[in-house]
Amino acid sequence: MLYNEPSPLETRVLTRRFSLPNSASIDTALANGGYQQFLKACGMTQEQIIDEVKASNLRGRGGAGFPTGMKWGFLPRQSPKPKYIVVNGDESEPGTCKDRVLIENDPHLLIEGILIAAQAVGAKAGYVYIRGEYRYLIDIMEKAIDEAYAKGWLGKNIQGRGVDFDLYTHTGAGAYECGEESALLESLEGKRGQPRIRPPFPAVAGLYQCPTVLNNVETFCAVPSILEMGGKAWADLGIPKAGGTKLTCLTGHVNKCGVYELPLGFPVEKMINEVGGGIRGGRKMKAFIPGGSSCPVLKGDEAWPLTMDYDAMAKAGTMLGSGGVVIMDETTDMVKAALRIMHFYAHESCGWCIPCREGTTWLKKILTRLDRGVGTTRDIDLAGDLAKNMLGRTFCPLGDAAALPTISIVEKFRDEFEAKLRKVQVAVPAFPDSPLVVMQ
Ligand code: SF4
Repeated sequence: MLYNEPSPLETRVLTRRFSLPNSASIDTALANGGYQQFLKACGMTQEQIIDEVKASNLRGRGGAGFPTGMKWGFLPRQSPKPKYIVVNGDESEPGTCKDRVLIENDPHLLIEGILIAAQAVGAKAGYVYIRGEYRYLIDIMEKAIDEAYAKGWLGKNIQGRGVDFDLYTHTGAGAYECGEESALLESLEGKRGQPRIRPPFPAVAGLYQCPTVLNNVETFCAVPSILEMGGKAWADLGIPKAGGTKLTCLTGHVNKCGVYELPLGFPVEKMINEVGGGIRGGRKMKAFIPGGSSCPVLKGDEAWPLTMDYDAMAKAGTMLGSGGVVIMDETTDMVKAALRIMHFYAHESCGWCIPCREGTTWLKKILTRLDRGVGTTRDIDLAGDLAKNMLGRTFCPLGDAAALPTISIVEKFRDEFEAKLRKVQVAVPAFPDSPLVVMQ
């Protein structure tokens, strides 16, 4: 199923089979180049495969943007322990919906990418970890795995090449936290999904304390095209420090919401106006989130001149993240937006470390007060200070993910918080969860 009509401005590399009838079936994949790059990988050394991935400048598509070839290169391939491939399909970042589109439309592309990664590091087994809310994707993935076994692309002695590989699915229970790689591994091992102390990193001590390649769905899906085109040509689709294409989820107040495959470095203005058909109702863009709700929010004017790449977004004080673009037009209540985001993180905090557990809960209460106009200007400062004090003091990135949007919204849209306080001047209960009638 497609979530949007393809745009002529897209560079369809990962998504090129999406438009074909029955694109998720192995017959469609095989008739259209599927698994051929795995066969190519069987004729390459492990170093050659990793070198191609390094040359492609592919950076992890889950949000952190770590160079993929380098990550694979960290694996101690001579270790006598078994090696594993783990796919992070725990796509939970608000605004992000690209991995599900890849699995729905072309699960065999993912399997081929996994097989190539397995060849690169000598792994014999892999797991596709899919978030709890995506249960229907488990059926799609399992059907694809069954097809691949039936046609000899998984299992023993794959296609007579002397390669063995088994692939399994695993469903999460719907916890955002399990998108963090070490928490995902804990969950996959049947434990509570909380992060591990690192180092050691998964490349050295991952699943069952064995060397593990752990990447996002989109990252694995990029690998077959890298071998097909060659790393350098694939890199040239993007910009010097960030190669290739990226699936971008255009969401919010844009006319043509959808998932689009765009080259890295694509201009924001062109993405919104030409790919996305402009802001709804011809309004102005008030705020822009480039990569999911955990990224610092930009004002519309700050975002228009930027390009969609890691360095440009970092220079602007935000992150490319997972590519979950959220566009908010001038009708958006930014206090409510901050509160909505905080509701999510307070709910998802696993509660292990105090700055995150208490910080998200306190911020939710303060932002609720401010949204209801019953706080004071000190609450605005308090929200900003509290969020800043969470930064870097939590066990996993969820603490920062919760703090960063709050800090940016309080700093950039302070006038909206103050306006709410001026507007509501009546004595009302200051308890965030009490029913409230306000006179304006
Ligand atoms: Fe859990 Fe939050 Fe601490 Fe991460 S930062 S370990 S989610 S409490």
